[in-house]
Amino acid sequence: MDHLQVNHVYQWMQITNDKIQKNKETLTSLDQAIGDGDHGINMARGFQEVMNKLDTENYEHVADMLKDIAMTLMSKVGGAAGPLYGTAFLKMSTRLKEQDATYGNFSQAIIEAVNGVKQRGKAEIGEKTMVDVWSAVADQMSKENHFSADLIVNTAKEAMESTKEMMATKGRAAYLKERSVGHMDPGSVSSFYLFEALAEVIAE
Ligand code: ADP
Ligand code: MG
Ligand code: MG
Repeated sequence: MDHLQVNHVYQWMQITNDKIQKNKETLTSLDQAIGDGDHGINMARGFQEVMNKLDTENYEHVADMLKDIAMTLMSKVGGAAGPLYGTAFLKMSTRLKEQDATYGNFSQAIIEAVNGVKQRGKAEIGEKTMVDVWSAVADQMSKENHFSADLIVNTAKEAMESTKEMMATKGRAAYLKERSVGHMDPGSVSSFYLFEALAEVIAE
């Protein structure tokens, strides 16, 4: 894979949506353990709406597609995750405006996405949020110079699993303090699905 094109981003969203629909219950139970139990519902609704949107439009540029993904997630997903995922995609769109999604540009776009999420959620690494997975992937990608499916999926998986032993200090789970330890963060798990889907597109 040399650079991501519109059809790749479409597949990325399609595979992400499939994984989220299939694992909706898993996301819900994780959020039942340390949140309010709606993460599966929120994400399933959001990514279904993303697919509905992408299926009614024709895109020439990756940035335009990413912008519509962002807007859809922001407007259709209630809760914290919608605006945060929306921000991530909006930042990617801005970074890739009038650019090809080459490895260099795309990894920069992921870095900007992380920075946007951090800023919007006022979260840093280690607070048991989706930032943990996004930052780990961004860091790993910035050290490489080509798309590597294995590195992306392994990095995302390790970061997702690392949230289990963390104590939440942001989001609803933070209300549980020590009792948030012992469960993976729901937003980190949905972010893992997203990067696992990206890796599958890259590997094709
Ligand atoms: P809500 O918590 O509003 O019900 P969701 O359940 O859909 O929203 O999403 C919860 C996820 O959002 C968490 O698992 C976490 O990964 C992420 N999250 C929540 N608050 C923040 C924050 N301030 N910064 C970054 N991510 C956050
Ligand atoms: Mg929730
Ligand atoms: Mg909620």
